[in-house]
Amino acid sequence: MRTLRTVSEMRAALATHRRAGRSIGLVPTMGALHEGHLSLMRRAREQCDQVIVSLFVNPAQFNDQADLDGYPRDEGADAALAAATGVDLMFAPAPAEIYPPGFATKVSVAGITDRLEGAHRGGAHFDGVTTVVAKLLNIVGPDVAYFGQKDAQQAAVIRQLARDLDIPVRIETCPTVRDPDGLALSSRNTRLSPDERTRAAALHRALTAIQQAVEDGVRDPAAARALARAQLTAARIEPEYLELVSTDTFTPVRRIDGCVLAVIAARVGTTRLIDNQPLSTARASPCARHPASPDAGGSSHPAAAGSANGGKDKHATDNA
Ligand code: AMP
Repeated sequence: MRTLRTVSEMRAALATHRRAGRSIGLVPTMGALHEGHLSLMRRAREQCDQVIVSLFVNPAQFNDQADLDGYPRDEGADAALAAATGVDLMFAPAPAEIYPPGFATKVSVAGITDRLEGAHRGGAHFDGVTTVVAKLLNIVGPDVAYFGQKDAQQAAVIRQLARDLDIPVRIETCPTVRDPDGLALSSRNTRLSPDERTRAAALHRALTAIQQAVEDGVRDPAAARALARAQLTAARIEPEYLELVSTDTFTPVRRIDGCVLAVIAARVGTTRLIDNQPLSTARASPCARHPASPDAGGSSHPAAAGSANGGKDKHATDNA
């Protein structure tokens, strides 16, 4: 595996592959790689001829300077993990390569970014995400880009971005990878004290309580949320938000029916964690394209699933 630092090196390295018609998969990350990231790389390895991982702690998407300063970084370990997972190229640019002096453009998706993460982290967060992802998609020109269901709203925003700007990429969402006690893997988990780490598993218990309630026939969001709240209270966790939202719009649903996502954000100590659980109601689901369970996968385009080449001329059209 080679590590490249500049846009021109990246373009040059991919030119031959592109000319030869080889499919290219991109996994954008901020590093501090864990099994969640590696699952995306494995999916890309299965589907694409060339697998690119980007490693860039994007200053533009941090609303909290302390969070940016303390973000875990270990490029050596990341490179070893990516290489062992079969990645071909790692793109690890310096901030000035992505945001050179005079950089003045912002890519902004409206609507879906107003809520949840956008509301709590501020509008600049998603603008930072969409600007850097638009750049990465332009630099690499992948057939498929891989994102985690763990950041469901982010994946939905990226789908909207690709659709609105006619970026010829298939956006694939991969299931959330969890520790045995259910805590979703996150680079930020390393910041939890042992006590906080134990308590953090309550986020997943809260989501599981909602899922169980739905399986038992509960359709009232308030009733489902009350069950989740009880799990959080027992672990002394006050959520920033705990909502049942439409997977299309990320607005709260009045009744649990159809495509619904339970979403949660909470600080455990000083560490901010997010998680979500797609909920399936019994009726035949038009949400088949949304990963209703960790095993269900999350291909955005059934027509192109399993075939990276099929993605090149298709635009992402759904929100996960
Ligand atoms: P990050 O480095 O946190 O920006 O994450 C890079 C990508 O990995 C994003 O698409 C995340 O949604 C995805 N990701 C992070 N954690 C997990 C996880 N536990 N399971 C699956 N994907 C994840």
